[in-house]
Amino acid sequence: MTEQAANIGVVGLAVMGSNLARNLASREGNTVAVFNRTHAKTEELVAEHPEAGFVSTASYEEFAAALQKPRTAIIMVKAGGPTDAVIDALVEVFEPGDIIVDGGNSLFTDTIRREKAVRETGINYVGMGVSGGEEGALLGPSLMPGGSDESWITLGPILRSIAAIAEGEPCVTHVGHDGAGHFVKMVHNGIEYADMQLIAEAYDLIRRGTGKSPAEIAEVFAEWNKGELESYLIEITAEVLRQVDAATGQPLVDVILDQAGAKGTGAWTVQTALSLGTPVSGIAEATFARSLSSHPEQREISRDLPGPTEGFTAQDPDAFIEQVRLALYASKIVAYSQGFDEIRAGAAEYDWNIDLGKIAAIWRGGCIIRARFLNRITDAYSETPDLPVLLTAPFFVDVFTRAQDAWREIVATSAKVGIPAPAFSSSLAYYDGLRAERLPAALIQGQRDFFGAHTYKRIDKPGTFHTLWSGDR
Ligand code: NAP
Repeated sequence: MTEQAANIGVVGLAVMGSNLARNLASREGNTVAVFNRTHAKTEELVAEHPEAGFVSTASYEEFAAALQKPRTAIIMVKAGGPTDAVIDALVEVFEPGDIIVDGGNSLFTDTIRREKAVRETGINYVGMGVSGGEEGALLGPSLMPGGSDESWITLGPILRSIAAIAEGEPCVTHVGHDGAGHFVKMVHNGIEYADMQLIAEAYDLIRRGTGKSPAEIAEVFAEWNKGELESYLIEITAEVLRQVDAATGQPLVDVILDQAGAKGTGAWTVQTALSLGTPVSGIAEATFARSLSSHPEQREISRDLPGPTEGFTAQDPDAFIEQVRLALYASKIVAYSQGFDEIRAGAAEYDWNIDLGKIAAIWRGGCIIRARFLNRITDAYSETPDLPVLLTAPFFVDVFTRAQDAWREIVATSAKVGIPAPAFSSSLAYYDGLRAERLPAALIQGQRDFFGAHTYKRIDKPGTFHTLWSGDR
């Protein structure tokens, strides 16, 4: 090992860290020091990729000694305790002015706590969202760094060089201070949950409504991917549906157990939204739909509950598929609008200056929710930076004008024939809730005042009121 040979380091060499380290090493001018708790993994990576010119290190001391000052290290380890353990070890061997970047999927409140603690040592701490999975880490992820302006001066050029490129622009921006980057990454994942659930509901409706095979439905998704729904998730859906199981010859999707897993970022998005009072109902439904799927004992005992007696066959399959496509697009806009609403609320709560249009722009490449229509979100915020509800932007209003009849028809049909479409229907209910001139919230206020003297406000005069209700209590 050469002393101070590397300009950047990576700690944690599982799939994400290894690929990010290789991505960094492939860029002109970078020399990358690597360290992993289990040293055999470091040796393996260095041996497998001699072209990367990695500086292998076997201890935190060696790792620190290998880095030019001010040192910059990106941590890619399991979120939670392991991340704290690595930070503690790096703080011991780093010096004021150095930069520690956590690229794991950390909870933003942990990042706020860590940034505050590390800052007291004079070391800069940056929580950074990394999206795009292992392929993104290697070829170009979407990067969402938080942290101080000072850290961004050093990190910006490095991160720009490894990020995905969308329409000539690197998919990275300084999101905001302390936990802002991890907050935005959390919401990104929440939107991803909603998008995946909506696609799954569209598939289910088409399959059960038209009797098409997974391979045939793959063609539908491939066709959709040429139009306004073009996105990575639609693209891979076609590939997943096309896949045949080698062992049975069945479509693979029919062999996979129908219980969806989750690593927790969807739940974090919903829990945070509840604390902020932001209705992200599409993301919540998507998260709960995964939970429902993962309770086989409850599903087993519920199988014989009464449902519609008649089966369902769409009279005009092509027209039905087009209605599903429109319902998917409209619901998807709702999910993204809710996600951006949560980012806006988070920025207000934690005092982050987040450019929402820029966030949509850095999600156009590298990340799982990359999609053509993100450009429209950027446009919407460029035109009206303080737009209170994204889905009211003129472009989206045009989509709803075209899609709402189909959307209502699909939600009504799914309810009538007993096909669960929780994300489609909750998105429509949210949309109609926003549209309503008056909501039955007035009745809720009356009930609250009745049983708890919680008071209410009136439409015709200012002040707070309580009624002496005549009913028994
Ligand atoms: P992972 O399975 O989450 O973590 C494995 C790594 O953590 C190994 O390097 C392991 O070292 C290290 N580690 C665990 N406990 C440790 C401890 N106490 N001290 C030091 N190191 C410890 O790996 P991953 O899938 O590559 O993900 C890395 C991070 O990126 C995670 O936070 C993950 O959530 C995030 N992320 C993942 C994806 C993805 O698609 N996989 C996408 C975006 C972000 P040993 O080898 O010694 O066990």
